[in-house]
Amino acid sequence: MEKPIEKWLPTSIPVTGDDPFYVRRIFCVGRNYAAHAREMGHDPDRDLPFFFMKPFDSIVESGSTIPYPSMTNDLHHEIELVVALKTGGSHIREEQATNCIYGYAVGLDMTRRDLQSEAKKLGRPWDMAKGFDNSAPCAPITKKGDVENIETATIELKVNDQVKQKSSIDHLIWSVPETISFLSKLVELKPGDLIYSGTPDGVGAVNAGDYLYGTITGLSDLEINYK
Ligand code: MN
Repeated sequence: MEKPIEKWLPTSIPVTGDDPFYVRRIFCVGRNYAAHAREMGHDPDRDLPFFFMKPFDSIVESGSTIPYPSMTNDLHHEIELVVALKTGGSHIREEQATNCIYGYAVGLDMTRRDLQSEAKKLGRPWDMAKGFDNSAPCAPITKKGDVENIETATIELKVNDQVKQKSSIDHLIWSVPETISFLSKLVELKPGDLIYSGTPDGVGAVNAGDYLYGTITGLSDLEINYK
């Protein structure tokens, strides 16, 4: 008899004070802080927002120890504000966008920078540079009603206790409501979708044995160890 397909479960993220959040899709915004756009060689005043995706099972819970990924010699950290959606829609108006938000979390958009640079040069897709196994660490979600002033929160990443990235959410080029509105013109957003909203400047290499500690004011911290 043919072997049955191995059982698998959807990915969930813990929520402070509520049931787990089941992840449907992971959308990520490219270049959403001017200083980071500049450090990557782009003009932040000219580019419209653009998006790429990661598989939902690339999520890693805070506190995890994960292997250094295969096929790269230049793994980079990108600390990001993650937005979790409880409702969706198409062509969502900016003024309505906040109603879709369930909560927020600290996330890392881990990137094989060498593969991304090669893909850019050759005009190829970014999927294997961005959407690899364990590429989307995410801290527990804090519900929207339990967060004050996320728009002006400080976002920071330490690697081995050294501050590598530090900025403020109010430096986003495209605000969270603008991003939701824009993305909902491209696809119909759905409950369970996550949006990684882009990284500030200071991205850099991560090595085996490194300890990453990400914070955003008012949210649960993110801790990841690389073995
Ligand atoms: Mn990113």
